[in-house]
Amino acid sequence: MKLTTDALIIRENNTVGESDRFVTALTRDLGVIRASVRGARQIKNRNGSATQLLCYSRLSLYKGREKYIVDDAEPLQVFFEVRGDLTKLALAQYFCELAGVLAPAEEEAEEELRLLLNALHYLSVGTRSLPLVKAVTELRLLCKAGYMPAVARCAQCDAEECTRFSPLRGEVTCEQHGSADTLLLTAGVLAALRHIVYAPFEKCFAFSLPETDTAILGEAAERFLLAQLNRGFHTLDFYHSL
Ligand SMILES: [Zn+2]
Repeated sequence: MKLTTDALIIRENNTVGESDRFVTALTRDLGVIRASVRGARQIKNRNGSATQLLCYSRLSLYKGREKYIVDDAEPLQVFFEVRGDLTKLALAQYFCELAGVLAPAEEEAEEELRLLLNALHYLSVGTRSLPLVKAVTELRLLCKAGYMPAVARCAQCDAEECTRFSPLRGEVTCEQHGSADTLLLTAGVLAALRHIVYAPFEKCFAFSLPETDTAILGEAAERFLLAQLNRGFHTLDFYHSL
């Protein structure tokens, strides 16, 4: 059965086969799939450039016995600005690794795909700070995968005015109920957390924060992610090493 779907290439591996390229793609209709691309490593093959890392492409594929086979790939968008900047590229690769872990396999992943495309767009145009794009991408991917933090009210007394966030428990607490292992929040960071978690998808990047608040938001999002997933990411380590 042959089908066509739009996809972002989130990983490429050139070491398999003579002329084919083996890739992992985040597709609109099939979520995360692994596929080999016919002739991608041959010079002048048009499937080659459309199946490089960070390429957003329209793939024609069919299911082989063990994996998908990309018959044809047409590039829709290539994020050149991201590829040309090491810090942006590192962050983009981290988003890709995250999506590979958090997005579903063999089922539609429209929102995950749009989230990554939006994130890459903001990395490209530079109208949002990198830590802000990172925090939104992390939290929205986590929410979609079932790790939604409870940031509406204090977990102990239902107070709306909260000053602390627990990355481990994924909840906010008021001044009275905050414990030592929690992160101190400002009112701005609390509002940003609520916006990212509860806003409709189209609006999730639509807010701004002062730099000091963005740093706290970034720490909250990253610590929450690492605590919930209980693992590290090489691409994240690399981003921090820059
Ligand atoms: Zn409380």
